[in-house]
Amino acid sequence: MDGRALATRIRAGIAADVAELGQLALATVLVGDDPASHIYIRLKHEAATAAGIEPIDRRLPADVTEAELLELVASLNGDDDIDGVLVQLPLPAHIDEARVIRTVDPVKDVDGYHPWNAGHLYLGRQTHVPATPLGVMALLTEYRIPVAGARAVVIGRSQIVGKPMAMLLMHANATVTICHSRTEELQRHTLDADIVVAAVGHAALLAPDMVKQGATVVDVGMNRTDAGIVGDVDPGVAEVAGHITPVPGGVGPMTIALLLANTVRAARYRRGLLAFPQPEGYVSRA
Ligand code: NAP
Repeated sequence: MDGRALATRIRAGIAADVAELGQLALATVLVGDDPASHIYIRLKHEAATAAGIEPIDRRLPADVTEAELLELVASLNGDDDIDGVLVQLPLPAHIDEARVIRTVDPVKDVDGYHPWNAGHLYLGRQTHVPATPLGVMALLTEYRIPVAGARAVVIGRSQIVGKPMAMLLMHANATVTICHSRTEELQRHTLDADIVVAAVGHAALLAPDMVKQGATVVDVGMNRTDAGIVGDVDPGVAEVAGHITPVPGGVGPMTIALLLANTVRAARYRRGLLAFPQPEGYVSRA
């Protein structure tokens, strides 16, 4: 399944949406010197610019205080020219990541990590949904992989990939099993699956003898090795799978494309073209 080709088409559609909506801006916050994070931010900025979305680049040193970071996020929330706000993870250990995520205005939360948006996904009413699992669903749709009634196994239960992935598959009527580091006999689960999504961060974790003939295999993993970036799926799985995503060129480009789609969604919320569910009827005194 060619993520690069589909992402290119999605990005062309986004550029058309942006031209219709007018000025859009996506603010990114990068803390510290993590080399991978620098690459991701550069790719996101390039893609935003190509789609006509203005990237707003905010960088803070690794020793920034949590209060200073929260202040920056609050100022981006309050800036009416900014549609989306994204804080690149991971953050340095002295900063409470969950607190920072909670500070992002849910309407501008294009990563879909805020508990308000995660909660809506749990309830089956999608608002902002993390881009990587959205990208996987778009690939399954593009390649007409039957999801309703299928047995799907998601390996990994992170907030940003595994859990939202499982939710989306369940809402699409797959029967979903979530596996993780404490799962015993992983192969028993994966061998039974029509769809396997590997989101672990462990090179070649999914071996050919763990996959049913003809199954659809989605490789979310991105592992830096001496041989370059490799996924979580052993290359031999391609001999067994009916459909498979390559690394690179599979899920990675889809993530960037769907992040831009979320920025367009945020712009629609902010312009009143889409209804964003707001908390109603009470003021929390906690
Ligand atoms: P994460 O937060 O480290 O989560 C990894 C998950 O894998 C955890 O739930 C962990 O279980 C589980 N796990 C670890 N070892 C396992 C094992 N031996 N068997 C089964 N499950 C195991 O990672 P993440 O952020 O979800 O990312 C996962 C991978 O996807 C990474 O390689 C990351 O770079 C990549 N990624 C790619 C994209 C993209 O656009 N292509 C986007 C995001 C992430 P526990 O919960 O029990 O610890």
